[in-house]
Amino acid sequence: MSKVIEGIGMTSRRTRMRLVSRLQEAGIESARVLEVIGQVPRHIFLDEALSHRAYEDTSLPIGHGQTLSQPYIVARMTELLLAHEPEHVLELGTGSGYQTAVLSRLFPKIYSVERIRPLQERARERLRKLDIRNVMLKHADGGMGWPDRGPFDGIIVTAAPSDVPGELLDQLADGGVLIAPVGEEKQVLVEVIRRGDSFERRELEPVNFVPLLAGVIR
Ligand code: SAH
Repeated sequence: MSKVIEGIGMTSRRTRMRLVSRLQEAGIESARVLEVIGQVPRHIFLDEALSHRAYEDTSLPIGHGQTLSQPYIVARMTELLLAHEPEHVLELGTGSGYQTAVLSRLFPKIYSVERIRPLQERARERLRKLDIRNVMLKHADGGMGWPDRGPFDGIIVTAAPSDVPGELLDQLADGGVLIAPVGEEKQVLVEVIRRGDSFERRELEPVNFVPLLAGVIR
């Protein structure tokens, strides 16, 4: 490896570790989640013009009016899922694919749905570059879930519906957990745990996501 490339690798490792400390200070407790955030290169999920900001704890634009979520919220939602050790995880809103890559390092199988085709295609390329093989992507309106692949023992929604879609609750396995931002102007992070036919719902903290929209863009 040339000196120059080595130098870049080391700098980005150092900046990644700085982000990890920042997330720890912000209250992320799971050592496994922090480890994965320290490993997955976030800069490759952004356009080159923005990649120098990849390790700031902030959301960043990815085109089509969408955003790559803030690392803190990616870590928080992942930590909430991990507490239940799900094996089959459904993600709605692939976006850049960064959250998908983080999930893929912690859970055996990830199914991720995105409604905007060009974003999905870019995400697919990046996941391939990282040699991630336990992810299935689908171009569709994820509001309906992914019925043929369910039930899922973990569901994570990364765009905000006005309330949790009933279709998603139907696809949640017994004992499974769903994490979603819910609301319009004011959103809150919601956790739903299924126990047989009843659903335990907890509201966790205020959040700020792009809306979950209907239909697809080709
Ligand atoms: N986890 C992503 C977040 C991207 S923003 C990341 O960190 O990059 C939310 C994404 O949800 C957008 O890409 C948006 O197009 C997508 N989305 C919104 N409504 C959707 C729907 N009904 N089905 C699938 N994807 C949806």
